Amino acid sequence: MLKYNASSVTLNTDTIGRQLEQVRARIADAERRFGRTAGSVRLLAVSKTHPPELLEAACQFGQRAFGESYLQEAQEKTRILDGLGIEWHFIGPMQSNKTRPIAEAFQWVHSVDRIKIARRLDEQRPQSTEPLNICLQVNISGENSKSGVAPEAVFAMAEQLAAFPRLRLRGLMALPAPAADFDARRVPFARLRALFEALNDAGCKLDTLSMGMSEDMEAAIAEGATIVRVGSAIFGSRR
Ligand SMILES: *Cc1c(COP(=O)(O)O)cnc(C)c1O
Repeated sequence: MLKYNASSVTLNTDTIGRQLEQVRARIADAERRFGRTAGSVRLLAVSKTHPPELLEAACQFGQRAFGESYLQEAQEKTRILDGLGIEWHFIGPMQSNKTRPIAEAFQWVHSVDRIKIARRLDEQRPQSTEPLNICLQVNISGENSKSGVAPEAVFAMAEQLAAFPRLRLRGLMALPAPAADFDARRVPFARLRALFEALNDAGCKLDTLSMGMSEDMEAAIAEGATIVRVGSAIFGSRR
């Protein structure tokens, strides 16, 4: 059994339900304020470091899409929570020799940023299942430490990804550097959206902009996010 964040175990089911409702209200409010269609932004509950019981609690309140970042932990949760109808999204860094369990147990991978990884996911995706939904992760703030392809490399990568039969390129994902205020937060999201629109103008049929977290989901929704990845606002702090 893995060790989970001890503090989060003390959060009870009602707390998860209340916090989930608050996040849903924030999303609905941002959709209204920024002229987005009601219900056009999906909530991905990021459950990394939190024990399976908390995911089960969120399930009781209707949440079905969960995001995980650490392979070993994710494998354990997919096993324990099998049968709850969960849609699993992998959002963390991947090692190319450990892609098989992801290709087998997940429906989405948001963090594809190397062709080598994509090729393995494509080869390892079981024929008996739907193609794996993927997002190309973009290093939108140009940080040296961050994963993600450089914005200049996105077109070439998207073209290569489109050729893999067992992968379905759905869109772009980014994890921008933290910014202090709303307007500053919008800037990198606007940049990702411009790339997304340029790809679609060039004939890619993308429908997903995976951007926005607990702190900055409103700015992401203002700029066109279709999936927000929210952890601490639902499950509490991780450390
Ligand atoms: C942890 C994580 C999140 C969620 O972050 P919060 O600030 O807890 O909402 C979203 N996306 C990625 C890629 C993450 O690793």
